[in-house]
Amino acid sequence: MKRIIFATSNEGKMKEIRMILADMDVEIVSLKEAGIQADIIEDGTTFEENAIIKATEIHKLTGEWVLADDSGLEVDYLDKAPGIYSARFMGEDTSYHIKNNEIIKRLENAKDEERSARFVCVIAAVIDNGEVMTTRATIEGRIGYKEEGDNGFGYDPIMYLPEYGTTTAGLSPEQKNEISHRGKALRLMKEKLEKYLV
Ligand code: IMP
Repeated sequence: MKRIIFATSNEGKMKEIRMILADMDVEIVSLKEAGIQADIIEDGTTFEENAIIKATEIHKLTGEWVLADDSGLEVDYLDKAPGIYSARFMGEDTSYHIKNNEIIKRLENAKDEERSARFVCVIAAVIDNGEVMTTRATIEGRIGYKEEGDNGFGYDPIMYLPEYGTTTAGLSPEQKNEISHRGKALRLMKEKLEKYLV
């Protein structure tokens, strides 16, 4: 069975990824499971560049098929910030409760229709001949007026989805995978990779 390394050490993400790619005839392993310790500097200026940096670095080390993702929150009222700096916004170690409330505060004068925002996810793949592929997907919503919902992580409690009447933190993990930026980008990548698995 083909092995694919997913360039993340985040167990939560691995769980999500395994669920979404479950019906593919491949074994997905994390960096830790592959025994790789890499300190990759994500100095790209776009989600695509950062995802490609991560995937190519690990491919150089292993020669194997590698997947990597880069994701973040774009808030239109804040000129698409925090964007690629979503994890680093206000410092890596600052709690998301503080980050979320800072975003709500920066939008205190924004009307409903000015609160549009999206999660973006780019998946990059490098396969054994060195070919690089990317897929991108988004989920659109609005920044809420307060945190809501107990599921998810990061900025989920402020990503309000009007059509669901709740935030992405108010969805079940299965519902979120179905409609999320990461779920959609991974399924698009799955279609591309399946062509190389025959
Ligand atoms: P990375 O892709 O692991 O670098 O994560 C980028 C940042 O975007 C992190 O700060 C996450 O909190 C945020 N982010 C990405 N996807 C989601 C999501 O599905 N929900 C909430 N926050 C997210």
